[in-house]
Amino acid sequence: MKMDLRSLRKRGVRLVHDLLLDSRYTLLYDHRMPGLYDRMVAMKNATVGGMVRLEASSVCQLRCPACSTARGKNRRGVIGWGFLKFADFQKFVEENPAIRTIEISNWGEVFLNPELNDIIRFAHEKGVLLKAANGVNLNNVSDETLENLVKYQFNHLSVSIDGASHDTYKLYRRKGSFNQVMRNVRRINHFKEQYNSPFPKLSWQFVIFGHNEHELPTARAMAAELGMEFRPKLNHTPEHSPIRDKEYVRREGGFKVASRDEFASVRRRAYSRPCTQLWDSPQINWDGKLLGCCVNKFGDFGNVFEEGLEGAMNSERYLYAKAMVLGLRGPREDIPCIRCKVYRTQIAGEISPEPGTKEKLEALVHIGGHVREKLKELLKGG
Ligand code: SF4
Repeated sequence: MKMDLRSLRKRGVRLVHDLLLDSRYTLLYDHRMPGLYDRMVAMKNATVGGMVRLEASSVCQLRCPACSTARGKNRRGVIGWGFLKFADFQKFVEENPAIRTIEISNWGEVFLNPELNDIIRFAHEKGVLLKAANGVNLNNVSDETLENLVKYQFNHLSVSIDGASHDTYKLYRRKGSFNQVMRNVRRINHFKEQYNSPFPKLSWQFVIFGHNEHELPTARAMAAELGMEFRPKLNHTPEHSPIRDKEYVRREGGFKVASRDEFASVRRRAYSRPCTQLWDSPQINWDGKLLGCCVNKFGDFGNVFEEGLEGAMNSERYLYAKAMVLGLRGPREDIPCIRCKVYRTQIAGEISPEPGTKEKLEALVHIGGHVREKLKELLKGG
């Protein structure tokens, strides 16, 4: 009976979470009600506190073939190659007492940050929840850090494990070791038992590829055995190791679809629309650059460590970007979103040509893909 109540509560929390997630899409995009969504975020911030994404490390030691960090693209661009400094983290937390949750993972591996133990301890002292829900590879972690995750109640760790055996895992997580990751998960569980703590909550993120789809059931069973929530994820680069058996993935993947495109056509909304982060959980780079969302590697909106969070978020360009991703304003060259695939494929195609938008639309025509044809049609009519 006890178990039943617990699983019922879990399902209830999941339902509320899903409803909130769906409603943010609805409020922002379907009904174009950014004002209402702004108020919803303000209400949430006033009750449970605000959230930001502040990357602890853009450096990674693995060589995953479809990742722009591993391919060196990020290193040469806006993201750069470096670690969040403890002094910057401390100052940020002290200057922004309303921020109660910080997601610290994005492009790199947080466990490579040499000051991570200080960051974890300080966040705990200040009552700030830390998460790495975006993903960690958990290959190289000291025993001290594994213990600190439990001791200082790190909230949630999503571990990227795309396989249920080393032979499969290493095909994508190149330079990584499946056995080492399993060992580290078991060490965390050991400390959780020792401290009698449910934290960090652990999830097993499994990106579904053609080369690992057959291991979905085994990985799911292993995750359950390790007390991890199993979270399959649809691949964002389907051309890399394409799905082999679509029916099987529809059944075993848990989405009833085999790709992000299929998801969008069945559910009538994008699999992922990170633009909402501009409102509810803005992304900040390790060096303080305000990026707005976790996808943006094209440009920044000022520096939070220099101008303050509020200052950077109230800049003309940041406010314009919000209107632009809603399709309420036309594309503008100085807004990073103009170079983003999400904007080009999901948003630009929906923009209706207002009088005088011809030049703005022309700026987009070079972008390519199916959007190009759509924009050409619009320009003919403009
Ligand atoms: S359009 Fe792209 S870069 Fe801009 S907010 Fe959306 S996901 Fe981020």
